[in-house]
Amino acid sequence: MRNQLYIDGEWRDGAGGERFTVNDPATGDGIADVAAGTPDDAVLACDVADRAQRSWAAVAPREKSEVLRRCWSTLIDHADELANLIVAEHGKPLADARGEIAYSAEFFRWNAEEAVRIHGSLGTSPNGANRILVHHPPVGVVVMVTPWNFPAAMITRKLAPALAAGNGVVVKPPRETPLTALRIAELLTGAGVPEGLVNVVPTLTSGAWFDAAVDHRAVRMVSFTGSTEVGRTLLRRCADRVLKSVMELGGNAPFIVFDDADLEAAVEGAMVAKMRHSAETCTAANRFLVEAAVAEEFSARLAAAMAEVKVGNGFDDGVTCGPMINAGAVETIDELVGAAVRAGAHVALGGNAIDGPGHFYEPTVLGGVAPDSPIAHAEIFGPVAPIIPFNDHDAMVDMANDTEMGLTGYVYTEDLAKGLAVAERIQAGMIGLNRGAVSDPAAPFGGMKQSGLGREGASEGIYEFCETQYIATNW
Ligand code: NAD
Repeated sequence: MRNQLYIDGEWRDGAGGERFTVNDPATGDGIADVAAGTPDDAVLACDVADRAQRSWAAVAPREKSEVLRRCWSTLIDHADELANLIVAEHGKPLADARGEIAYSAEFFRWNAEEAVRIHGSLGTSPNGANRILVHHPPVGVVVMVTPWNFPAAMITRKLAPALAAGNGVVVKPPRETPLTALRIAELLTGAGVPEGLVNVVPTLTSGAWFDAAVDHRAVRMVSFTGSTEVGRTLLRRCADRVLKSVMELGGNAPFIVFDDADLEAAVEGAMVAKMRHSAETCTAANRFLVEAAVAEEFSARLAAAMAEVKVGNGFDDGVTCGPMINAGAVETIDELVGAAVRAGAHVALGGNAIDGPGHFYEPTVLGGVAPDSPIAHAEIFGPVAPIIPFNDHDAMVDMANDTEMGLTGYVYTEDLAKGLAVAERIQAGMIGLNRGAVSDPAAPFGGMKQSGLGREGASEGIYEFCETQYIATNW
C-alpha cells in the first residue's frame, strides 16, 4: 500500500513528519498510516505541477489522447487491486467497488476521444470589420479536492478531462480514503503521464492546505466535489484570486412514483437509486414521493426488497450494503429517523443502528413521512427510504422543488409525455425517467441551485478545464 505523498513522481513524507491512520469502517481497525501533507507540501506540489504543465500543454492532442487511452487500460488491468483498496478504506461491497473502477477508468477512455476534439470557432463581426477567432487553451494548474464516497471516480472524473485539456493537477484526497488516490496516481505515471503532472497530497489540515494552494500564483482553477457547506467555504476563498471554480455538491433527490408506474420497475429503480455504493451517493434517492393510490403497495414492495439487502463487510460474499463511513454518519442517520418517527412516520422496516464493531445501519423504510420532517430536507447518506404520499400533481412538484439542492431527480410513470413534462419542472441537473441510475461519462453530470456549478463528463466537461481566448484579425 502506498502511504506517502506523491509529488513529482516520487514518494515522500510530509514536511512536518506527521502521519494519520486510515480505518476500515467495517471493523473500526486501522489499516494504514499515511503521511500528512503540510501547506508547504501543497505549495511544492503546485510548483511541480506548474513546471510539468508547461511541457504537457505543448504535447500534440493525439499524443495526449494516447496517454489517456493507456491510463484507461492500466486502470482496467488493475481493477481487482483497486477495487480491494476501495473496499478496505471505504467499506462498499466488492461488486460496487468493481463497478466504480470501471466507471472511473471510462473517463480516461472518453476523454482520450475528446482530447483531439477541443474545437474553437471562426466568425465574422456583424459590421464585417474583423474575423473572430476563438480557441481554448488549458487553464494551467488545477487544484482538486475530493470526497470519500467514491475514492476513485470523484478523482478520475476531474483528472481525465483536466489532462486532456493540457493542465497540471494537485489532488487533495479525503483523509478517510487516500489509499486508492495514491495508487491511481502511481499507475497513471506508469501509463505515461509525465512525472509532476499529477500530484496527490493527503493532509490533516485541509483548510490551511487549501489556503496555501489557492494562493499559489500558478493555480488558476479549483475543482471540488463534496458537501455544499464546504463548497461555499472554498468558493469564498476562490473569490480572493478570482479562480475558475467547478463545484459538485450535495443532493436531496426526489424519487417520484405516479399511480400509472410499473411498480416492479419502480422498486427495482428505487433500490438502485437508494442503495448502490452503500447508500452513500450524492445522487441517492432521498425522498420517495408516491401517488397516494399506490403508496401502500409501493411501500410494502420496497420494504420486501430492502429486507433482502445483506448488510456486512464489503469483502464478504453476498453483501449488498457495507458500513457507513464512520460513527458520526450512523448517529446522523439515527437522529433523522428518530425525528421522522416522532413526527408521525411509521417504520415499515428497520429503523435502528446495528451494534459494532464497525458502523452499520439497518436498511429502513419509513411510511407516511411528513413533508416538513427534517429527513425530507437533509441529505441522509444512508440506507433509509422515507415515503411521502401525494395526491395533487402540482403540489407534488412544489414539494419536489422545496429544497436548496438540485442535483438529481427520478420519475416513474408509464406515460412518457407526463414523465417528460414533470421532468422539465423538476429543478435538478439530472433526471432519471424510469431509470434509477443517471451517471454516464458521456452525459453532463452536475447540479442546479446549491448542488453546484459547472458540469463533469460529456463534451462540456473538458471545456470546464479550458480558457476561452478570442483573437480579432482580418485578412
Ligand atoms: P466534505 O465536504 O466534508 O469533504 C469533501 C472534501 O473537502 C474532503 O477532501 C475534505 O477533506 C475537504 N475539506 C473539508 N473542509 C475543507 C476546507 N475547509 N478546506 C479544504 N478542503 C476541505 O464531503 P464528504 O463528507 O467527503 O462527501 C460527502 C458529500 O459530497 C455529500 O454532500 C455528497 O452529496 C457530496 N458529493 C457530491 C458529488 C457530486 O458530484 N455532486 C459526488 C460525490 C459526493
